[in-house]
This record gives sequence, structure tokens and C-alpha cells, in this order.
Amino acid sequence: MQNEKIKLLNNYIQESNNIVFFGGAGVSTESNIPDFRSADGIFNKKLDKHFTPEQLVSHSFYQTYPKDFFEFYKKNMIYENAKPNTAHLALARLERDKKLKAVITQNIDGLHQAAGSKTVYELHGSIHSNTCELCKEKFNLKEFLSLPGDIPKCPNCGAIVKPDVVLYEEALDESTISKAIEAISKADLLIVGGTSLLVYPAAGFLNYFKGKHLVLINKTSTAMDKMADLIITDSIACVFKELLNI
Ligand code: ZN
Repeated sequence: MQNEKIKLLNNYIQESNNIVFFGGAGVSTESNIPDFRSADGIFNKKLDKHFTPEQLVSHSFYQTYPKDFFEFYKKNMIYENAKPNTAHLALARLERDKKLKAVITQNIDGLHQAAGSKTVYELHGSIHSNTCELCKEKFNLKEFLSLPGDIPKCPNCGAIVKPDVVLYEEALDESTISKAIEAISKADLLIVGGTSLLVYPAAGFLNYFKGKHLVLINKTSTAMDKMADLIITDSIACVFKELLNI
């Protein structure tokens, strides 16, 4: 049964020249990057309060408790040694073969680019880019991590260097959203993987798809299963591994 589904997905891919991939946390967990939302809420003795992972990466937490924010961020959001998995590599190859036009991701780890993908719309930003709040100097991940102190400060002006990651309570980048929506609205095959499509704005994006086939690949059922032409209940890396064997 699963084999038949992989063959059908392969047929869709073969007949398409405008594939868009939309990926969620499940794409990264296959590279051993845990979904930060699965991190335990932290009981912070100093603050004497419980915080959920979502609260710990919110704009207000960042502003109120910068030291605790950066401690959580560095421990739970940055995986410096993570490597792209089969899904990342297969998607990069589809782009090189001129079949895939864009990857839209909710992940911040930069693994699609590490695999060779060029057109990547990172809805939630990236750990690889960090900006000084005051003088706007940019720092890559390595430079950011080498800034001394519990709160990373800009060597030029002394202000806080903030990761270019969209925190809770912050708005997504408008131009990234419009490019993502444009790519989806032009696609003839939309493959959605590693997301249960419950997190904003993922589910809403699918409404812009007007193409031929919508494929959902996820370990569990998703909020949009009814819309799909093909649902594969499996890990995204396994599916792409089997695809490559056809
Ligand atoms: Zn600065």
C-alpha cells in the first residue's frame, strides 16, 4: 500500500515542472533537531515561575529576561552540527533538475541551504543571521556564538545582538510571506511534509494552492487531510529515501 503511494508520488513528481515543498518541524527532527516545543517548560528558580517553551521564545520574554532567553535559545534552538537528511538532499536535487521552484519552511536551522537548495523561504527566520539591535551589524552563527557574555553584545556599539528568528508575538516578514504565497499559487504540485498544519500560518497557505496535486506527508494525520490527493503517513526522510530507490 505504502509502496503504491510512493509510486504515485513519483508519478506526480515526474509529470510536474513546478513543485513547491512546504515543510515543518518534522523535516528537521529527522536530522536530530528536536521540536523546541517539546522541550520541557522550565521552572526558573530565580524568576519563580513556570514558562512554556513558547513563552521562553516570545518577544516579551526576550525583552524582560534576556539572559534567560539566550540560555534557552542557545540550548534548544541551535544545533550547530546538524546535517541535512535525505529529504533536504532530495529536494535540493529536484531544484537542480528544474522541477522544484521553492522550499517554504517553518524551520530556522538552514539545513535546506546546507543541502544545496537556493530558493528557500524561511517563514520563521534563521539562526544563521543575527543583527545588532542598534547599529544593525550582521553576525553569522559562528560569530554570534563567539560573542562573550550571557547576553550577546555587539562589539561595535555594545547593544544586544538579536537572532533573526521570528519570536512569538512578532510578525512574520511580509515579503517572505508574499513570495511563499506566490510560489504556492503558481505550483502544480504542492508537497507538504513534517507538519500537522495546526501552526499559523501553515494551514492558511494551502488555500492559495490551485494546482493539480496536493500531497501530505506526515507521521500523524493533519488538519488538512480532507484537501489532499495523496496522504502518506510516514516520516518525510523515509519517503524520500524510498522515492530515490524507484
Ligand atoms: Zn552594534
